[in-house]
Amino acid sequence: MEYRTLGATGTKVSELCFGTWRFAKESNGTVETDRGTAHDLLDTAWKNGINFIDTANVYGDPNGTSEEWIGDWLSDHDREDFVIASKVYFPFDGDNPNGRGLSRKHIRNQIRGTLDRLGTDYLDLYYIHRWDETTPIEETLATLNGLVANGKVNYLGASSMAAWQLTKALWESDVSDLARFDVTQPMYHAAAGDDVQDYLDVCADQDVAVCPYSPLAGGFLTGKYERDGDVPEGSRGDLTDRFEDYYMSEDGWKVLDEVRSIADDLDATPAQVALRWLIQQRDFSCIPIVGARTVEQLEENVGAVDIELSAEQYDRIADAS
Ligand code: NDP
Repeated sequence: MEYRTLGATGTKVSELCFGTWRFAKESNGTVETDRGTAHDLLDTAWKNGINFIDTANVYGDPNGTSEEWIGDWLSDHDREDFVIASKVYFPFDGDNPNGRGLSRKHIRNQIRGTLDRLGTDYLDLYYIHRWDETTPIEETLATLNGLVANGKVNYLGASSMAAWQLTKALWESDVSDLARFDVTQPMYHAAAGDDVQDYLDVCADQDVAVCPYSPLAGGFLTGKYERDGDVPEGSRGDLTDRFEDYYMSEDGWKVLDEVRSIADDLDATPAQVALRWLIQQRDFSCIPIVGARTVEQLEENVGAVDIELSAEQYDRIADAS
């Protein structure tokens, strides 16, 4: 495993981040990742050199379970070995009108619970999970800046927003001398098409690191789904609604053909090639957030750090993408 600086910051992270969205998540009555498997996955990530862990206050059923299970696991490890990211925005419990979004009140309330569940007194990275149209970005950034100033958070991140929103937030931080977003977290993968290109251009220009979520398009880019085949039983495509609308497209199948053919040439798997293509992004620092339901999947995916795409192979995927 190699380590690189997290965008323009001085913190070093592994080339892959480990995502914990599916910990304790119920899909159609099935818990996708139970506590034991969650801890096995964290062990596997750590043994393979991953020091970067992604969670959110609302991950797990009930909300907060992902942070709690990571906290249990971390209590047997040295906190300083890890770079921990969490997020705020979505409603955490009940329908309190102040119990959601990016107001000063909600952020200050949520960071307490997040730190408590994780069993730590600071986060390395705190993302806004979505843009809040009801709170001025000035209030949100001033509040987040306060968390950085008082040591509860080291760096700020922003997930899933439009290019203009990210640009506005960066501008506001710069003119008001506030901590800026050093990291972004869009849904981005080889089959994502042009949807986030403007956003990625802002990241490249502003030296903001990109940590793509769903880097395997929810499993589609592993090659486990076939154009006319049955959906594998127990897979995300089987357990969740609208998988096809969300992750698959006719262009996506063409990308997958290219990924599969390069995997054959490299004696690698499609998942490894799809992840490697992200790690090798040329215009911005890119650290994909791998998700895995089983230890075997994670071990396979970590193999992405051991292969290298030639410039020609990289371009073939970029062109298809
Ligand atoms: P992926 O696109 O990597 O999908 C992961 C899923 O693909 C696994 O759960 C598994 O599903 C399948 N899979 C993974 N590896 C393999 C393999 N080698 N062989 C076969 N199947 C495989 O990422 P996620 O969508 O899970 O997202 C990753 C992380 O990103 C999350 O954990 C979270 O931290 C973050 N995230 C952030 C969001 C945001 O709004 N900011 C939104 C979504 C995710 P299965 O076996 O069940 O089919």
